[in-house]
Amino acid sequence: MLNWLDIIKFANKGNPTPPKRVEKTDEEWKAQLSPEVYRITRQKGTERAFSGEHCSIFEPALYGCACCDTWLFDSRQKFESGTGWPSFTQPVRENNVKYEKDLSHGMRRIEVVCNVCDAHLGHIFPDGPMPSGLRYCINSASLKKVNTTSLRTATFAGGCFWCTEAIFQQLKGVLNVNSGYSGGAAETATYDRVKTGNTKHAEAIQVTFDESQISYEDLLRIHLLTHDPTTLNRQGADKGPQYRSAIFYHNDEQKAAAQAIMEEIQSEYNDPIVTELAAYEAFHKAEDFHQNFYKRNEGYPYCQVVISPKLQKLRAKYSDKLKDNNPTIQAKKA
Ligand SMILES: [Zn+2]
Repeated sequence: MLNWLDIIKFANKGNPTPPKRVEKTDEEWKAQLSPEVYRITRQKGTERAFSGEHCSIFEPALYGCACCDTWLFDSRQKFESGTGWPSFTQPVRENNVKYEKDLSHGMRRIEVVCNVCDAHLGHIFPDGPMPSGLRYCINSASLKKVNTTSLRTATFAGGCFWCTEAIFQQLKGVLNVNSGYSGGAAETATYDRVKTGNTKHAEAIQVTFDESQISYEDLLRIHLLTHDPTTLNRQGADKGPQYRSAIFYHNDEQKAAAQAIMEEIQSEYNDPIVTELAAYEAFHKAEDFHQNFYKRNEGYPYCQVVISPKLQKLRAKYSDKLKDNNPTIQAKKA
């Protein structure tokens, strides 16, 4: 959990690496956004207090950036500050927002900005409720409600989670990907315990996706085509049960879909698909070091040799499923 000292440090010494970048010209933003949203997000405007649609609503919801859809805040961290602007105590992920010193209007403040597209969101103050003590004071117009009724969870294993995470992060309709461990016997899992192979956990990813934008079936197809589901307990040079191919289904619908798609994809492989199909039990999020690994370490030899070709395969086969305006993808396509 972030506290005020963390925020000061980010503003003074540099912000966390964003999960991705979206960059557009001023003309493109103008064409995409309403005049009010453009004024606030791209020209550092402030809406009138109590005027925004999200300022006094507290029902369960996720809030994305009005410009680039990046998932920024969750209603569980929302509180009534009485200020007339939506107020939060934490962002959804530490690296989705950034902090800039703002000396405008004769004040010393810290501005909150979308770390993906640089949209102005609002300001942050150290007078929020405990335990964080933070108040993210955000313009309602900078936020877009994400429809939570169509949000679903999927859990997959396909070898090293640095790879699987990098693949699913590229997909439209995928709001969040966590790397971790699933399918094991022990109550908790850490990298050091899992790598022995003794806990029976697989390196896995937990994907939060919006079913109205991408189907579970498509996630299954992409999963089965971007790793090798025909090698038992092994992906390339990575050997051991922690690198096995698996689909951990969350309900009977997911189970039936997985059976059907495995059958469908079998024709793409000469050898039989040996992917484990098992009921989901638990997911243990991996250490911070392993989250967003590819994004932070593209030059790392493993990423160059193992992950980059997989991403290229994904781009070639599923370009219509990829997020728009992802500069990483655009640059590599060229
Ligand atoms: Zn944004």
